[in-house]
Amino acid sequence: TDAYKLVSRKWKLRATEIDLGDGVVIGENNFTLMAGPCSIEGEDQIEKIADQLVKSGVKIMRGGVFKPRSSPYAFRGMGIEGLKSFYEICRSKGIKIITEVMQVSQIEEMFDYVDIFQVGARNTQNFNLLDALGEVDKAVLIKRGISGSIDELLQSAEYVFSAGNERLMLCERGIRTFESAYRNTFDINAIPILKEKSHLPVIADPSHGIGIRKHVSRITLASMIAGADGAIVEIHHEPEKAFSDGQQTLNFEEFEHLVEQIDMLREVV
Ligand code: PEP
Ligand code: MN
Repeated sequence: TDAYKLVSRKWKLRATEIDLGDGVVIGENNFTLMAGPCSIEGEDQIEKIADQLVKSGVKIMRGGVFKPRSSPYAFRGMGIEGLKSFYEICRSKGIKIITEVMQVSQIEEMFDYVDIFQVGARNTQNFNLLDALGEVDKAVLIKRGISGSIDELLQSAEYVFSAGNERLMLCERGIRTFESAYRNTFDINAIPILKEKSHLPVIADPSHGIGIRKHVSRITLASMIAGADGAIVEIHHEPEKAFSDGQQTLNFEEFEHLVEQIDMLREVV
């Protein structure tokens, strides 16, 4: 038997589109930018970043409230209260939200305050979580595992899809290799390969992919040329003060420049 089939191009030739409502559609016909902080830090921060997204015409904000941190002493997120503020502020500004779910028990409490559930790289093979997300009526983005192969990512997607949830997208966020000059090895090759093997949208995460602020924009543009259907990028009004991942987080000026470059590239890809 095949390790996966429903997510493959062989099973469905036409690219999947994910309609989030209000005219926000993720798919092959437009490069979708999602941006926001690594971690939600409070109402003032949410407001500032959401206002920047409105200004830049970006319709989806990212931000974690349950953070998977290597050290238990690092900031682990504002939890469900943070999510409620995140959702309410974004709703009032017409912005959709994507946020990470770490375990099955969180799905229900998060459900009403989420547009896209993000499965983090550390949970790509949490098969119970994937099964459970297969049963919800909400879009899901699955990241590639930290040392995960392309095939393993597709098999993880198959868990969600085969359990009944077809509103699914794949995310390349870099993998762990011997190279230590940057945080992760962003696998640009994975983008055309995933697009060839699967009908699901492919999203790039250049922030975690390289982990160095000054190079994030270039990798975003490269992923667009490689055929990605969108990107998820970390931004903050004061990256130096961010509670997590500030080193790879764009400030507003860098972000505005990136949006301009993406809009220019839209004409040619
Ligand atoms: C994140 O998006 O902030 C994150 C923790 O990503 P990843 O799961 O790819 O490490
Ligand atoms: Mn992060």
